[in-house]
Amino acid sequence: MDFEYGIIGGGPAGYTSGMMLAKQGHSVVLFEKNELGGTCLNKGCIPTKSLIHSSEVYNGLINSANIGVDLTINNFDFAKVAEKRDNTVSKIRKSLELAVKNSGVNVIYAEADIKDKNTIVADGNEYKVNNIIVATGSKPREVKGLEFDGKFILSSDDVLKLDTLPKTVLIIGSGAIGIEWARIFSNFGVEVTVVEMAEHLIPNADIEVSKRIERIFKQKKIKFYTGNCIEKIEEKAVTLKSGETILPDFILSAVGRVPINVDINDVKKLGDACGEIQLAHYAIQQAKEYVLGSKCDRNLIPAVIYGEPEIAWVGLREQDCDETYTKITMPISALGKSWCDDSTEGFIKIVTKDDKIVGAHIVSKEASAIIQQIVIAMQNDISVNDLKEICYAHPTYSEGIFETLMRI
Ligand SMILES: Cc1cc2nc3c(=O)[nH]c(=O)nc-3n(C[C@H](O)[C@H](O)[C@H](O)COP(=O)(O)OP(=O)(O)OC[C@H]3O[C@@H](n4cnc5c(N)ncnc54)[C@H](O)[C@@H]3O)c2cc1C
Repeated sequence: MDFEYGIIGGGPAGYTSGMMLAKQGHSVVLFEKNELGGTCLNKGCIPTKSLIHSSEVYNGLINSANIGVDLTINNFDFAKVAEKRDNTVSKIRKSLELAVKNSGVNVIYAEADIKDKNTIVADGNEYKVNNIIVATGSKPREVKGLEFDGKFILSSDDVLKLDTLPKTVLIIGSGAIGIEWARIFSNFGVEVTVVEMAEHLIPNADIEVSKRIERIFKQKKIKFYTGNCIEKIEEKAVTLKSGETILPDFILSAVGRVPINVDINDVKKLGDACGEIQLAHYAIQQAKEYVLGSKCDRNLIPAVIYGEPEIAWVGLREQDCDETYTKITMPISALGKSWCDDSTEGFIKIVTKDDKIVGAHIVSKEASAIIQQIVIAMQNDISVNDLKEICYAHPTYSEGIFETLMRI
């Protein structure tokens, strides 16, 4: 055999498993048809967060008179914002390429195919391997009548190629990608409309979270339609099932992703290719579990949506619980830090049973950081009483955990 492990795909699932296996002393070859880092680094997590940051700075400056800093913005160049986004990605990619190389993983930049359970073919060469890992990721879901054309109907990949801003945009789907883009566009002053087929925005969230985001959207004048969908598109006029007509510059269709699969037995699939939870940290978790043989409870995989403010949750939701559960909600405005930051919107909601946390739902600045503390508590079975005894730094958003638990 040429290698012990052959990995197809250089995203979080592929490079994490590759580097960990190489660290254990195994010989590894990894095939990547585009660039290392996969969707996460090149078309997903990282470029969108760079844009979110730029849009927040822009919006903060526009409204800075509220905090006594009265500025005049003379120039705004979205092409520069896009350049910063691309530079961020390429800097991180260079570090990743170096880390993968230093770990001893052999990277082949080519599209790979599986010939049989011990043979990978790429660039006309055959590679003999003991084990194959498929980490080929996923691609944007295309729905009938909304086929991507890169001009009027854009995928989440297409929208990242923009170097000018639209005036109006219609976003289909209010999952993580739709909500993030609604934040980016609205921060930059683009008129945003979101259409969601389910009865509430972010349909897989706790119902109180969904309702709060709807309230926030109204405050921010982000139009949204729920229980609705596109009936027809004529030229650039989009008519909804409910009868309204919208005239967007383009449509961003963000209705989920489908696995890129290689149909063969006796191979291990990791990450988005499995079609389970399509998140980068879940892909990394699966890679860790494969290499180390450990197993983590799927209920303990945190979800984060980078809305304004952030949204994060783990475990049971309101709608999953009967009356034997205790649910306690604390407004973020109860925290001194939120007033200092002008970020009083949101809440922390904790669900407990038998003195243990079984779920948490957070709408708040820094929700992405707060949720991790809850995950640590849940995974380690730390009781509510023990959590109350911890010393929480002040003023922080973390002390919101203590403040919430004190209300039980
Ligand atoms: C807009 C957007 C924002 C996102 N934001 C977040 C976020 O904030 N947090 C989060 O956790 N997740 C986020 N995600 C999801 C995250 O990007 C994915 O869950 C993650 O990238 C999955 O990792 P993966 O390794 O399974 O697949 P991928 O990252 O998709 O990597 C798969 C790789 O395989 C390569 N490949 C495929 N077929 C072949 C072949 N035949 N031969 C060689 N190479 C091949 C591809 O080129 C790709 O590089 C976001 C996704 C999008 C689209």
